[in-house]
Amino acid sequence: MKIAVIGTGYVGLVSGVCFSEMGNEVICVDKVEAKVQMLNAGQVPIYEPGLQEVMVKNAEAGRLSFTTDLGEAVRKSEVVIIAVGTPSLPSGEANLSFIEQAARDIALSMEDYKIVVTKSTVPVGTNGKIKEIIAGLSAHPFDVVSVPEFLREGSAVRDTFNPDRIVIGAENEAAAGRIIELHRSLTDNIIVTDIRSAEMIKYASNAFLATKISFINEIANICEKVGADVTSVAEGMGYDNRIGPSFLKAGIGYGGSCFPKDTQALIQIAGNVDYEFKLLKSVVDVNRDQRYNILRKLETLLGDLNGKIIAIWGLAFKPNTDDVRDAPAIEIIQELLKAGASIRAYDPIATANFRQWVDHDSIAWCSGALDAAEGADALCLLTEWQEFEQVDLKTLQETLRKPILIDGRNVYSEERIAETGFVYSSIGRPNMN
Ligand code: NAD
Repeated sequence: MKIAVIGTGYVGLVSGVCFSEMGNEVICVDKVEAKVQMLNAGQVPIYEPGLQEVMVKNAEAGRLSFTTDLGEAVRKSEVVIIAVGTPSLPSGEANLSFIEQAARDIALSMEDYKIVVTKSTVPVGTNGKIKEIIAGLSAHPFDVVSVPEFLREGSAVRDTFNPDRIVIGAENEAAAGRIIELHRSLTDNIIVTDIRSAEMIKYASNAFLATKISFINEIANICEKVGADVTSVAEGMGYDNRIGPSFLKAGIGYGGSCFPKDTQALIQIAGNVDYEFKLLKSVVDVNRDQRYNILRKLETLLGDLNGKIIAIWGLAFKPNTDDVRDAPAIEIIQELLKAGASIRAYDPIATANFRQWVDHDSIAWCSGALDAAEGADALCLLTEWQEFEQVDLKTLQETLRKPILIDGRNVYSEERIAETGFVYSSIGRPNMN
C-alpha cells in the first residue's frame, strides 16, 4: 500500500518505519525541517531502541522517505495517517489545532480518493470534525477511519509488530477492509467498531491503566502505615486472572506524554456532557500527590532541605525513553529548588530534553550515576533505568556524603540493601525503611 504519515514523533515515525518494514511504500511528513533533514541523513531525532536500524534499512530499500512536502506525500498515497500531537490546553482539554491543520492541509492536497486514518489520540467526535473540515475544502471522495495507537515509548517497535489488539473505527465497510488488510499480519485481535467507540477505547484504556497505578500507589501508602509490603501484595493480587500482574508496581506515579493528558482530557470529555468522572479525578489527584512522597521522605530524613545537596537519578518519565513530558522529575526538582536545595542530576539519555523544561544555576548536570552521587546529602531514584539497578551499592554509599537513598521505584531488593549501611526508604515496603 502507498501510505503518507503526517507527524514524525514517537507514534508517526515508529508507525511509518514499521509499515515500510511490512512492505508498504511510506512517505513520512513533518513540518519541522530540521527533523526531516536528520531523518534523511539516517538519524533518529528521538531515542527509541531498535528504530534506527529498521529505518535505515527501509530507506535504503527505497520503501521509506521523509519530506516536509505534505501535498506531494498525500497525492502519492492511498492511505494518509494523521499522527500529530494532541497536547493539553490549560483547561485540560486536548488541543486539536495540529489535527485541524493537518486535515486542512490534506484536503487542499487531495486529487483523488483517500482513506484518512487518525492515529493521534483524539476526543470523541474529533474524527467527525476532521470529516467536516475535509469535506468543506475538497470535492474529492474520502473516508475517515479511527485507528488509535497503543504503542509504549521504549518498546515502540516491538509493540507495533506485536500489538495486543488493533482497533478500527469506521463508517465505510470498504475503507475498514483496506485498513484491516494493512494490519492483518500483525494480530488476530482486530476490533472493528464505529468511530466514536474507537475514539473512546483509547481514552478508556489509558484511564484504566492510570487507575491501576494510582490504586496500587494508595495501597502502598497504606502498606507503609500498617506494616505490609506492597510488592508481596501486588504479587498476590496479580495472580488473580481478573486483576492481572501488570501496572501494579508501586512508585512515584505515572508521567509522560499520554496518561496525564489523556486522563485530563477524558475528565473534560465527560464534563462537556455534564458527567463528573469522580473516580478519574481522584486517580489524577492521587498521582500528583504521590510525587510529593519523595519530598516528604527527604524532609523526614534530612529536616530542612535549604542548602542540602540532593542527587537525582532519572529524569525521563520512564526508562528507555528520552521523553520528559510531565515526568515526575520536573515537579520534584522544581520543589527541591524552591526549598533551597541544590541538585546533582543524571539520566542516561534524557538530560538534554529535560534542560528544555527545567534549567537552573543550582543544578549540576552530571555525566554518570556515581558522579551525580558525589558529595550529596541524599540520593533520590526517580526512573528505574537498568544501570541504576546494576550499580555497586557499597561504592555508591562511599560516594555520597550521607548514606541516604530514597528509591522512588522500588528497584533494590531487601537482601541487597541489608548488606549496606544505607538509610533506605522506598514505596510501600515499610520493613525496609
Ligand atoms: P510528538 O509530539 O512526538 O510528534 C508530533 C509530530 O507531529 C511533531 O514532530 C510535529 O512537528 C509534527 N506535526 C505537527 N503538526 C504537523 C503538520 N501539520 N504537518 C506535519 N507535521 C506536523 O507526538 P507523539 O508522542 O508521537 O504523539 C502523537 C499522537 O499519538 C498524540 O495524539 C498522542 O497522544 C498519541 N499517542 C502517543 C503515544 C506515545 O507513546 N507517545 C502512544 C499512543 C498514542
